[in-house]
Amino acid sequence: MTKKELTELTKEELSKEIESIGEKSFRAKQIWQWIYFRGVTDFMEMSNLSLNLRQKLAENYTITRPKIVTEQISIDKTHKWLLEFKDGQRVEMVYIPEKDRGAVCISTQVGCAMGCRFCHTGSQKFTRNLTVGEIVGQFMVARDAYKEWPSPTNEIRYLSNIVVMGMGEPLNNLDNVVKALNILTDGDGIAISRRRVTMSTSGIAPRIVEAMQKTGVRLAVSLHAPNNTIRSQIMPINDKFKIEEVMKACSLYQQGDHSRYITFEYLLLKGINDSEENAKELISLLKKYKLRATFNLIPFNPWPGCGFEPSERKTVENFSKLLDEAGFAAPVRVARGQDILAACGQLKSKKLN
Ligand code: SAH
Ligand code: SF4
Repeated sequence: MTKKELTELTKEELSKEIESIGEKSFRAKQIWQWIYFRGVTDFMEMSNLSLNLRQKLAENYTITRPKIVTEQISIDKTHKWLLEFKDGQRVEMVYIPEKDRGAVCISTQVGCAMGCRFCHTGSQKFTRNLTVGEIVGQFMVARDAYKEWPSPTNEIRYLSNIVVMGMGEPLNNLDNVVKALNILTDGDGIAISRRRVTMSTSGIAPRIVEAMQKTGVRLAVSLHAPNNTIRSQIMPINDKFKIEEVMKACSLYQQGDHSRYITFEYLLLKGINDSEENAKELISLLKKYKLRATFNLIPFNPWPGCGFEPSERKTVENFSKLLDEAGFAAPVRVARGQDILAACGQLKSKKLN
């Protein structure tokens, strides 16, 4: 009999599982705390359980971490891991440290089916969705590396934030992503606050409201263009869900939760979407849909064979200023970990063919 992997289970599922082997459900809570509060992977360390139960668990279950294939640390301390799962599939994960906090950027799929032209991940074919345990396991690997077990009880942590901005389109693996985020934000375990989790989508319009209701995390949308002509050129998904549909979904989401600003990611590509006219069109678009939003201007991170160039620094600054003057904060994202290809859009887990 193959052993069951416990990190694949939600809290409720774990409870049912433990009851199914004849144990009281409070045992499930203890096991949950060992796994997600203490970071234990060996059942024998679960010292408040009887030896008998520990042995029974070890015979029937596993608590597995994704295997670390390689890891690299950038000169700016950005940390990138190439991780491998049981079937040999691989993804990359990145930790981006700041002075008094840090974000772990997790992946949700092996490859990505969206095929955005500017994205290194998009040039790698979609292979499969990640499971719940594989998504949660990424964060646990980072916790192991920074020895942040047991979960800190205050907000001062190395690993304080999560960005679902690695490989893959999270809204195309929504069931698993929802379960994984519920585990990562559960107060009895890893306990990352939902306010500190941001999920980025390329704009799967019909799932935006549902995804945000089910996760309660922050929304980021990869917009990258002020109109359908430009957006379709660089993001094939725009042929399926047009800008208007994405904007309507965003507006619906904000009607449900007034306090929440949406972050629009806007990648600046030289000569493609970075003119003053583009900025003005972008401003009217946001105003038309009455969205409360901030921008995150992303300088393009080139990768071998991409065929795009980053906008000039002056162009980026001017673009930022125009949005700012129109009432939209538009900070320019500082690229991190470029020297180890860990920056936005540079992740890829297979060699280029
Ligand atoms: N798949 C999701 C989240 C992952 S990508 C999405 O597309 O939203 C995180 C951000 O990096 C997205 O806004 C994405 O468009 C952007 N990005 C992709 N390729 C990039 C590149 N080469 N340089 C800079 N940012 C890039
Ligand atoms: Fe997929 Fe996001 Fe890359 Fe587009 S930018 S190909 S959606 S990972």
